[in-house]
Amino acid sequence: MRQPLSRELSNLFERGRDRQLRLAVTGLSQAGKTAFLTSLVNQLRHAGVEAQLDLLPAAREGRLLGAQRLNQPDLGVPRFPYDPGMAALRDTPPRWPEPTRGISELRLQLRYRPARQGWFTTDIAHLTLDLFDYPGEWLLDLPLLQHDFYSWCQAQSLHEGPHRKILFSEWLSEVEQLDPAAEADEAKLAALADAYAQGLRRAKKAGFSDLQPGRFLLPGELEGAPVLQFFPLPELSAPKEVLEALPNTSIYATLAARFRYYQQQVVRPFYRDHFRRFDRQIVLVDVLGALNAGPERFEDLSRALRQLMQSFDYGKRSLLTRIFAPKIDRLAIAATKADHVTPDQHGNVVQLLEALLAEPLKDLRFADIPVKALSLAAIRATDAREVLHEGKRTPALKGTTLEGEDVLVYPGDVPNRLPKPDFWQQQGFDFPSFRPMSVDSEALSHIRMDAAIDWLIGDKLI
Ligand code: GDP
Repeated sequence: MRQPLSRELSNLFERGRDRQLRLAVTGLSQAGKTAFLTSLVNQLRHAGVEAQLDLLPAAREGRLLGAQRLNQPDLGVPRFPYDPGMAALRDTPPRWPEPTRGISELRLQLRYRPARQGWFTTDIAHLTLDLFDYPGEWLLDLPLLQHDFYSWCQAQSLHEGPHRKILFSEWLSEVEQLDPAAEADEAKLAALADAYAQGLRRAKKAGFSDLQPGRFLLPGELEGAPVLQFFPLPELSAPKEVLEALPNTSIYATLAARFRYYQQQVVRPFYRDHFRRFDRQIVLVDVLGALNAGPERFEDLSRALRQLMQSFDYGKRSLLTRIFAPKIDRLAIAATKADHVTPDQHGNVVQLLEALLAEPLKDLRFADIPVKALSLAAIRATDAREVLHEGKRTPALKGTTLEGEDVLVYPGDVPNRLPKPDFWQQQGFDFPSFRPMSVDSEALSHIRMDAAIDWLIGDKLI
């Protein structure tokens, strides 16, 4: 049946002009952002031919014709290193792409044939897709905007577990000697700020995620800048009014001024100039890695994610809505590296992710922001197999470790809810890191990248 003329005209208008979507990818470091974006670009570029994208209707129906790279509009943002990433994956032996450490961008133009063709509609339509990748650590800084230096110092000492404390012990022993009222010594403050940043980096290496300020871990272009030379003063004993009346040259006032500068000149501009302009967002989470690393890290990831997700809390009274009026209208949350477990466990991975993010997901649904949780492997490094174990057919994974050893493993069962203490006592979960597989076609092998792409942009390809 023919559509009414007015609808035809509005379709023509929609499709006649180039439509544009700004899609952002984030996650804490090691979550798999670089791998995801490399695979996303690769799948879209090869959508018409080699890419396996059956869960994306536009591709399944043969309407998605492919994607071309265009020059990006933001000249101040580095370009996402797609070619070096692909070169690493094509190396012998294949290597994982070098992770990005700040914000980067890549612009694609997608060509597709609209599903409904009418009298006036063009045969081919275009969607300009601006892809952004930025560290999730930067989002941990949003809560910092709610604080002044005094309340930030107090918030920092709240959850120092025993293991974390050891990682900061050198810095702590020095900083405890400081008198906040004493005259600030630049060199001493710089050395202490460096020791604090080293503590954060050690904690990151040890698998902790709830670490602030985010730029201390991933400074991007701010590496070595004085704006990063501050740290919290733990266990402040004097009342706030007394501390705030100290002279500008005191240690307290100097650190407080740098803290304010960091809020105003680093945290706010990221939200104002970038975050506020994203249309859609995917947050990647390495749930399986945290499960592998044990209870303290798992609990820490959960805390970090709660903080990170505050950046998507669009409730009317949220800090974010009040200051920046963001416009993200759709969100995906994905557990990455699903190829680390056998396919029968994938359902549990999603349930565990939902349990881990239960509170933020409830808030998002309440605020009516469409959100989907899924599990995926951006670049698949294992093959699913079945083996005979004690007379029973059992699922297993075949892959090559980073050291080059071929292995056949059963990594364990993934709990479908937050693990109880007995899960950790039984050491129920263990897997090695795998090397990527050799790339033998143009398109990378993946798990459910097509489902993620469909959720994020599928509605624009109709
Ligand atoms: P980023 O720091 O968030 O950019 O994380 P990367 O994309 O660099 O990924 C970190 C590491 O996770 C990689 O070096 C890989 O070892 C691993 N990884 C990422 N994606 C996958 C995946 O889909 N499958 C597997 N098996 N490993 C992955």
